[in-house]
Amino acid sequence: MARPIIFFLFMLVISASLVLLYPFSRSLVALIFCATTLFVLYLLFHPRNQWLVPNRSRVPGAACVALTFDDGPDPVDTPKLLDLLREKGVKATFFVIGKRAEQYPEIVRRAWAEGHLIANHTWSHYPLFCFLTPRRLRDEIERGTESVRRSCGFRPHLFRSPVGLRHPFLAPYLQDAGLEYVSWSIRTRDTLTASSTVLARRILDKAASGDIILLHDHLPKGAHAMLEALPGVIDELRKRGFEFVLAGPREDAGGTLEPACESVR
Ligand SMILES: [Zn+2]
Repeated sequence: MARPIIFFLFMLVISASLVLLYPFSRSLVALIFCATTLFVLYLLFHPRNQWLVPNRSRVPGAACVALTFDDGPDPVDTPKLLDLLREKGVKATFFVIGKRAEQYPEIVRRAWAEGHLIANHTWSHYPLFCFLTPRRLRDEIERGTESVRRSCGFRPHLFRSPVGLRHPFLAPYLQDAGLEYVSWSIRTRDTLTASSTVLARRILDKAASGDIILLHDHLPKGAHAMLEALPGVIDELRKRGFEFVLAGPREDAGGTLEPACESVR
């Protein structure tokens, strides 16, 4: 809990300094305000920043890459993606939104049954995640975990926040929940492009050993570009000698599997 306290003390000291300095030098106040804002934005928004929340953005092993899919399950695109991954013999990691997993538990169960890894991507994917109250933050984490448990019968052990946003209390809450934060090393920005060629290039131009690649299997306008780009990307990465791995061990291998609960159909 030391870092959240340091964070809030820092904010308190800066705010008090701004108030005290304001009558003497407005330009100095403006400078401190801008520098502090940039620093706080870095702490809360940078996906690989380790200070507030320890996280992993790579996988171990020579010539290994991990495909990760956020924001699903989607009733149309996730089954198509699962078909594609099965055809290519690739296992991936799905960071599912709890609410959506409750809506489509059979898709989450299918992904798990086909050897993929299911992870917690919060309950509701609240866009202003870094401004949640501590109580709501804990709720988002716990309900996300619970929805995966209801779908698959185990508590996930990996977590990723919406858009990779941080929160001052995230690290201690994740520790309490037995979750490890997994970030990424390649952001494909598939949320912003409808071109499969652009998307494929963004992955293939950067791909290196240990990369965790961020993609989405649920997007407001559909994940067509990803579904179109992925077969070629998989083939090309294999040609370069890469192997596809999960972002972490599966629960059935790691000993955290719980008996499936009665609501699992
Ligand atoms: Zn997301």
